[in-house]
Amino acid sequence: MPPDGRPAGAGPRVVASRYNQGMNRTFVNLDGSLVAPQDAKISVLDRGFLYGDSVYEVVRTYGGAPFELDAHLARLASSASRIGLSPKWDAARTRVEIDRTLAASRAHGTDAPDPQAAPWNRGERYIRVVMTRGAGEIGLDPALAIDPVAVVIVQPLHGPPARAYVEGVKVAVVGVRRPSPLALDPAAKTGAHLSHVLAVKEAREAGADEALLLDEQGFVTEGSSSNVFAVEEGKLRTPPLGAGILEGVTRGIVLRLAREERLAVEEMPLTPGDLARADELFITSTQREILPVARLGERPVGAGRPGPVTSALHRAFRRVAGGPVRVSERR
Ligand code: PMP
Repeated sequence: MPPDGRPAGAGPRVVASRYNQGMNRTFVNLDGSLVAPQDAKISVLDRGFLYGDSVYEVVRTYGGAPFELDAHLARLASSASRIGLSPKWDAARTRVEIDRTLAASRAHGTDAPDPQAAPWNRGERYIRVVMTRGAGEIGLDPALAIDPVAVVIVQPLHGPPARAYVEGVKVAVVGVRRPSPLALDPAAKTGAHLSHVLAVKEAREAGADEALLLDEQGFVTEGSSSNVFAVEEGKLRTPPLGAGILEGVTRGIVLRLAREERLAVEEMPLTPGDLARADELFITSTQREILPVARLGERPVGAGRPGPVTSALHRAFRRVAGGPVRVSERR
C-alpha cells in the first residue's frame, strides 16, 4: 500500500499531489466566512452531498476580474428556480462574496508561472459557486431541507494547455446518454452529475479529453462540461437548446460573434454522422473558451488540425475577452 494509505493502483498519484499542492492556493468562502480549505466542512446530512440537490456555476477571471458574471448569476438564479431551491444568497450578495474571496486569493500573491499554460490563462482564477438546499432530516422530500449552504471556491485556473489550442484535442461520443429532459431539466446546472462523471470516465478510457453525450434518440446533445459546434459547407452548426442542453454562456457569445462575422449559423439537430462529416469541430466552455477538436474517436476531423473558421472565431472571442489573440503571444 502506498505511504498515503491509498490501496495500490488506486489512481494516479500525480493528481493526488496536485490536489495537495493546490490546497494552499484554494480559497473558500463558506456561508460568508473565509475559511482554510481543510476547515471548510459541511454536514454529511447536506442534501448536496446526499443527493446532488444543489445548483452551481463556474466563472473565470480575465485580468483578475470575473468574466460575464451577470450571465452566470442569472443562470444560477434560473437553475435554482427550475428546481425550486431557495438559494442562501441573492445575486447581489453572491457578487460581494465572490469579490471577497477573489481579494483573499489575490492577497496571497501570484502563482508559480505554468510554462504550458495558454497566455490568456496565466495568473487567472477559477471561481465555483455552489448553493445547496441544505441539511435536514434524511429523506428525499425537499421540504425536509432547513439549512441552505452557500460556497465560493477560488483556485488558480487550470485551462487547457497552449498546445491544445494549436493541435486540437480528442473527443469521444460515449455510450452514456444525457438524461432525458423529462427526468432532469438540462437548463438547470445542478450537482446531480453522475451520468456526466461516468461519461468522462468512458472518454478518459478511450484516451479522449472530452465526452460527447447523445440523447435517447441518438442525437448529439453536448459535452460533459461543454457545448459542441460543427463547421460544414462553411456553415456553423450546433444543437438547439431544445436538444436538451445547457445554455452555455460561451455558446451564446460564439453564436453572437458568428453572426457578427456574417457566418451562416444553424441551430439544428446533429447526429454523430454529421460530426464525423464536419470540416471542423470545436467545443466551448468558460474554462476552455473555443477549443478545436482534431480527433473524433479514432478519426481525424477535417484535416486533423484546427480549421480556419474555428481559428477566426477564437480570435474574435479573444478580442471580446481581452488579452493575447494568439497562443504565441506572451503577456
Ligand atoms: N454544458 C454543460 C453540461 C456544462 O457543464 C458546461 C459548463 N458550464 C457547458 C455546457 C458550457 O457552459 P459555459 O460556456 O457557460 O461554461
